[in-house]
Amino acid sequence: MKYVEKVFEQLKQNNPNEPEFLQAAQEILFTLAPVFEAHPEYEKAGLLERFVEPERVIEFRVPWVDDSGKVQVNRGYRVQFNSAIGPYKGGLRFHPSVNLSILKFLGLEQILKNSLTSLPIGGGKGGSNFDPKGKSDAEVMRFCQSFMTELYRHIGPDADVPAGDIGVGGREIGYLFGQYKRIKAQSENGVLTGKGLSYGGSLGRTEATGYGLLFYVQEMLRVNNMTLEGKTVCISGSGNVAIFACEKAQALGAKVVTMSDSNGFIYDPNGIQLDVVKDIKLGHRGRIKEYAEKVAGSVYTEGCRNVWQTKCDVALPCATQNEIDLDSAKALIANGVKAVGEGANMPSTLEAIDAFLKAGVLFAPAKAANAGGVATSALEMSQNSMRYSWTKEEVLSKLQGIMVNIHTACQKASEEYGFGYNLVAGANIAGFLKVADAMMAQGIV
Ligand code: NDP
Repeated sequence: MKYVEKVFEQLKQNNPNEPEFLQAAQEILFTLAPVFEAHPEYEKAGLLERFVEPERVIEFRVPWVDDSGKVQVNRGYRVQFNSAIGPYKGGLRFHPSVNLSILKFLGLEQILKNSLTSLPIGGGKGGSNFDPKGKSDAEVMRFCQSFMTELYRHIGPDADVPAGDIGVGGREIGYLFGQYKRIKAQSENGVLTGKGLSYGGSLGRTEATGYGLLFYVQEMLRVNNMTLEGKTVCISGSGNVAIFACEKAQALGAKVVTMSDSNGFIYDPNGIQLDVVKDIKLGHRGRIKEYAEKVAGSVYTEGCRNVWQTKCDVALPCATQNEIDLDSAKALIANGVKAVGEGANMPSTLEAIDAFLKAGVLFAPAKAANAGGVATSALEMSQNSMRYSWTKEEVLSKLQGIMVNIHTACQKASEEYGFGYNLVAGANIAGFLKVADAMMAQGIV
């Protein structure tokens, strides 16, 4: 049996109840086969067996008291996956679906994503099955304080630097940072990224993942003699990534016609009015269906998955994992989609990716296309160490340069290892080679 198959079989046996983790591993491992053929020394060093096993997994109890005085208990996690090229770095997700399988898939992806940014950051991910939706600010604060009271001993500016993800935005990062500082009794603002501007945050970080996605998609289209100008775009989600993906897509001349949340989606044939979405989502944490009540000519449909039945040139899934299955992919292809850019992590199933690639749809995989968030987080870390702030223009211009470079690295690696123009394979290979090199240099650890 080939090395990659052998390691994947073992991984399945070791993690039988972790479907998301196995899905992410499968997608990565099988595109790496030519790398192991070219580097037999990697197999001798047990490189892949070590790569797929987290360096450390921390699981802890998070007790807190709700507004009615009742004790609630959630589960907290931090997966410190790989520190070969720098401190663990990756977001925290607060969502009822959070479990070890989801955090290990996100952590594994994060290793390669962080490597692709060319910045010195390792891979990690964490979070809790806590649901911030419907909770008061005071409840969210008490939860965050309890979560950090355990997490603080495992993180630090040179050890592990968490950031936001689903359910963790500026409000949560503020509460987490406040508690960390209170426990440590010293100012270490490089311990978290996505901070507010008044206490060490970076200009441009809020926009970075969505804008970065569009910079990447723009480059992918340019290389294939297309532009976003005049294109119809479907976006899913209406959180941080979706909102700023929409903003940049519109700025580049595209017409965005859909956005969604976990209840349903809106379709506006005249183009989404983003100020209305921002008012609903950022202004008062409302539901996307309010949009249709406010904007004439738009329609709300219950059920978020149906968003992919909408006709578009470019699809940007920006909500969550596995939101595009084979049926959705077939509908998009039948409706003439030309490009897909993954803003969310692993939003397309393996079968959906396969269908897109076979149909010749340009496909920008998450670990490359949404790396702008973590890249800008790393820029935030640099500014924190220098005790200096770059202007928003400086940050966004560095971000654009990074996204174009990531695209080039993916394209080159894909072509070099015989995949032609396949950004899925290219992202995995380019990200892996740097981590592999560092792991080989550091011995069996
Ligand atoms: P937010 O919490 O800001 O927004 C998430 C959006 O997706 C909301 O509209 C939410 O709807 C929807 N959503 C979440 N879970 C589901 C679900 N199970 N089914 C349908 N819709 C869902 O998160 P972000 O925008 O930060 O993150 C979105 C995606 O982007 C995630 O995959 C994340 O890992 C990825 N990402 C985020 C980065 C960042 O910098 N924030 C960086 C790189 C990747 P509702 O409000 O109803 O829950």
